[in-house]
This record gives sequence, C-alpha cells and structure tokens, in this order.
Amino acid sequence: MTTKRIHFKFPAKAASQPVVTHLVRDYNLDVNIFHARVNQKEEGFMMLDLTGSDQEIANGLEYLKSLRIEIHDADIGLQWDETRCTSCGNCLNHCPTNALYIPDRSTMKVDYRSDKCVECLNCIDNCPFGACSSLI
Ligand code: SF4
Ligand code: SF4
Repeated sequence: MTTKRIHFKFPAKAASQPVVTHLVRDYNLDVNIFHARVNQKEEGFMMLDLTGSDQEIANGLEYLKSLRIEIHDADIGLQWDETRCTSCGNCLNHCPTNALYIPDRSTMKVDYRSDKCVECLNCIDNCPFGACSSLI
C-alpha cells in the first residue's frame, strides 16, 4: 500500500463530476480530503491523500487526467512569506497542527515550520495580510 498526497486543480467542467466517489468505488482507493474548494461553475481545487496499490493510484490518476484535471505534488502547497507576516495571530486558531505558531511568547512573533504543515490551506483564508498563499 502506498499513500500519495496530491493537489487537483479542476477546470469548471470537471467540478461537477463526482470524482471522489469514482476514485473510491471504481479505483479502489482510500481518499482522505484535507482541503477542497469546489464550485460547479468555476475552477476548483482539492488537496488529499490517495491510498492504494501503486497500480490503483496510477489508474486513479489516469482517470483524473482524462477529465483534464491538473495534478500536482502536494509539496507545492503552502507558501509562507515572512516579510508579509505582521504576527497578528489571526491564523493560529485555524492551523490544525501548529505549523504556524509562536516559538517565543516574549516576542509574540509568529513563525512557520513546514515539517508540521499538512497543507490544509486554512491559513490562506484567515490571513488578512496575504502572507500565506498556494501555487494552486
Ligand atoms: S496550510 Fe494548514 S497546516 Fe499548513 S500552516 Fe496553513 S493552516 Fe497550518
Ligand atoms: S494571519 Fe497572516 S499576518 Fe497574521 S500571523 Fe498569521 S501569517 Fe502572519
């Protein structure tokens, strides 16, 4: 069994397709969704783990490509720009793993540790200063 973390970027046409249902039912994959933004009329994206045999994962990814869904490795996910971060703290309660955190309470300066980040992308919507972004 292998687990592969990936981002999908949906064109508007594919956003109305029940792709997760197909991945589970037709390609025998376990799917664990971390973050999704799907609007049936617009482009959308989803970040998830696929678990199955290498062949099952390959077959599932071929199915997604047939729908013209862009597939990216997850490690292009979160980008944190320290120069834009004001340490306002707004993101902290939205970060499930404390990847965004305050290492030193005496300074209250926010920092980011990529090894803790599960790329849920919650912080993007909760950063008023644009310090958090994603390439998708
Ligand atoms: S993407 Fe999620 S886990 Fe990573 S820093 Fe942002 S909120 Fe935290
Ligand atoms: S919400 Fe944005 S600016 Fe505020 S602490 Fe978090 S990353 Fe920095």
